[in-house]
Amino acid sequence: MEPQLRRPTRRACERCGRVERWDGDAATWRVASEDGDKQVGNPYCIHEWDINGRFAPFEEPA
Ligand SMILES: [Zn+2]
Repeated sequence: MEPQLRRPTRRACERCGRVERWDGDAATWRVASEDGDKQVGNPYCIHEWDINGRFAPFEEPA
């Protein structure tokens, strides 16, 4: 197994609830479906992605 950069595979927006999953084949984020509904959130939202820990580009005090 080659050493590989760990990537988040799922991210959720803290503002609108949009959820995306990483599609490794297409190398892009895709909207995730949960319970048959696409978690698109708000298209006008400036998404604030909640990606576990250190992948978050910015850290603000809660
Ligand atoms: Zn959002």
